[in-house]
Amino acid sequence: MAEPIFKRLCLIGIGLIGSSIALRARRDGLAKTIVVQTRRKETLEKAKARNLGDVYTDSIAEAVKDADCVILCVPVGAFAQVGERMNGHLADDAIVTDVGSVKRSVINQLKPHIPSKVHLVPGHPIAGTEYSGPEAGFATLFDQRWCLLTPEPNTDKAAVEKITRLWKALGSLVDVMDPDHHDRVLAVVSHIPHLIAYNIVGTASDLEEITESEVIKFSASGFRDFTRIAASDPVMWRDVFLHNRDAVLEMLGRFSEDLSALQRAIRWGDGDLLFEHFTKTRDIRSGIIEAGQETAVPNFGRDVVEDE
Ligand code: NAP
Repeated sequence: MAEPIFKRLCLIGIGLIGSSIALRARRDGLAKTIVVQTRRKETLEKAKARNLGDVYTDSIAEAVKDADCVILCVPVGAFAQVGERMNGHLADDAIVTDVGSVKRSVINQLKPHIPSKVHLVPGHPIAGTEYSGPEAGFATLFDQRWCLLTPEPNTDKAAVEKITRLWKALGSLVDVMDPDHHDRVLAVVSHIPHLIAYNIVGTASDLEEITESEVIKFSASGFRDFTRIAASDPVMWRDVFLHNRDAVLEMLGRFSEDLSALQRAIRWGDGDLLFEHFTKTRDIRSGIIEAGQETAVPNFGRDVVEDE
């Protein structure tokens, strides 16, 4: 086993992402000691039952004390409060990083609470599932998935390198990006797709002339893939939309214009436009498969191939 990267790795929040980090870090000896913090007793008990850490506490102040790396794994709406509770308890030269799905807001919420001797290296692993909580994590979640780091230009280079090393050891590919650019890219590749899924599933369940049993029975026609995304954690996604408002609204404007063009093509029977559009989007899918970010297995990568 390689030398641990950190002596005392502290996880604030131990849901899907926190527990996946803990399991991998434990499996591969990435930290000498793992400290697990979460606010609710039930969650702490679940983390203990999975043996995710060496030290367990519900106190943020206690958890971050003496840690050389603190990873914040809580919903993006909770960062200001978590920052406040860490304030005054962080060790000199500690690195504070996070996994939040929005970066500008997280930086704004945390910065006032980070002393000058502590290094802030924000991050976002582009990996997840629709499940949450400490029971949902698994050690291979980050394998071959990108993790984006968004440090400010004057951030200590050694700290950025250490967090890069950590994510590579967790299985990720790592890239550095400007936080505002991150938020615009993620608005279009993640946040709007989730909004569309929440919307279509809501629309289908509200239609009076189509029964719920029909929606479920015939869901293999495409609907069920939206239902997987729309089963994602409501707290996490509420916070993502509230904290990436500008980028989401901007990209939603573009999306609505493009949708209107398709609507118009359907109304006017413009088959060429539809064909051209649908051909172009197929190429994007091939690109994603070639980049190793999806499998080419038919039926949306499900193990069991059913008749549709
Ligand atoms: P999760 O499974 O729901 O776990 C959330 C954790 O945060 C729990 O330990 C919970 O504690 C704690 N928490 C919730 N609200 C809090 C609050 N107001 N104050 C303090 N602690 C709070 O969440 P997750 O899926 O791991 O997501 C964590 C972060 O990763 C989020 O910022 C999310 O944007 C980001 N992310 C998620 C995914 C994904 O697919 N899920 C992917 C990439 C990044 P208790 O249970 O004790 O209340």
